[in-house]
Amino acid sequence: MLPPIANRFVAGETSAETIAHVRRLNDRDVKALVNLLGEHYDDRETVAGDVAAYHTLIDDIADDGLEAAVSVKPSQLGLDLGENVFREHLAELVDHAADRGVFVWIDMEDHTTTDVTLDAYEELAREHDGGVGVCVQANLKRTRADVERLAGVPGKVRFVKGAYDEPASIAYTDKADVNRAYRELLEYAFEHFEDGIAVGSHDPAMIDYAIDRHDEHGTPFEIQMLMGVREDAQYDLAEEYEVWQYVPYGDRWKSYFYRRIMERKENLWFAVRAILGR
Ligand code: FAD
Repeated sequence: MLPPIANRFVAGETSAETIAHVRRLNDRDVKALVNLLGEHYDDRETVAGDVAAYHTLIDDIADDGLEAAVSVKPSQLGLDLGENVFREHLAELVDHAADRGVFVWIDMEDHTTTDVTLDAYEELAREHDGGVGVCVQANLKRTRADVERLAGVPGKVRFVKGAYDEPASIAYTDKADVNRAYRELLEYAFEHFEDGIAVGSHDPAMIDYAIDRHDEHGTPFEIQMLMGVREDAQYDLAEEYEVWQYVPYGDRWKSYFYRRIMERKENLWFAVRAILGR
């Protein structure tokens, strides 16, 4: 059982609690991207355990007819053990998900993993004619070129600002530059990604910008936000637009929860209040 503060950001330690959360979201017209928490594994047994858990999760989603996808991290599927380990596990998961009609998103980790992640995505997206998506990060200077490459690939792309501290030689480190790059990427994507894109941001200015671009170009889009972050906005937006909530779960929740708490002082205050019982 998760402590009361953590359960704002994490659906539960078990898949049963997570499926129950997804059902509640679906009842309010919000779809779910389910992520089993875990990354940077250096042994095959742990990787195999998470891959098996994703297989079961995909079956649960399909059997229950839920509006949900899964979102996986390359290093959770064994990237630190070798590119081939990651690619084999990802291919296996995407095959299974395709059989069950469930979409698979690939999260993007730090810049050392960008090439292998995009290559794996492109191969599988072409093989399955979609059914798989990948995340790109506006803070990386290379991303514009990556996005131009991905425009012709039959999958889906999630645009985020980027969560990793990257060196200034390859990344924008100033917030204003990242925001400018993000807008430029959205502008390009709404013009060139006819099958649609995902806007992974809580930023009201970026959501408004995306809605504006959608109104002009008619390109389908979905808004993706994290569980526990601007949830009221998620439900409001879902009345008019497609909204997906990123739903983490699993027993490795502590470091994820710590990141959520530390990234905004409002979250820290929320945690303190909950501890004090106010
Ligand atoms: P920020 O630039 O952090 O903030 C802009 C404004 O948004 C704030 O001023 C505020 O108005 C609002 N806001 C932001 N956070 C909050 C909050 N906690 N509470 C209330 N208001 C808030 N990064 C990766 O590198 N790889 C990934 O695969 C990846 N996947 C993601 C998937 C999803 C669904 C989401 C939402 C994010 C993902 N990210 C990923 C993280 C992303 O890169 C950013 O680090 C993160 O979303 C913060 O940027 P932002 O655009 O949300 O807003």
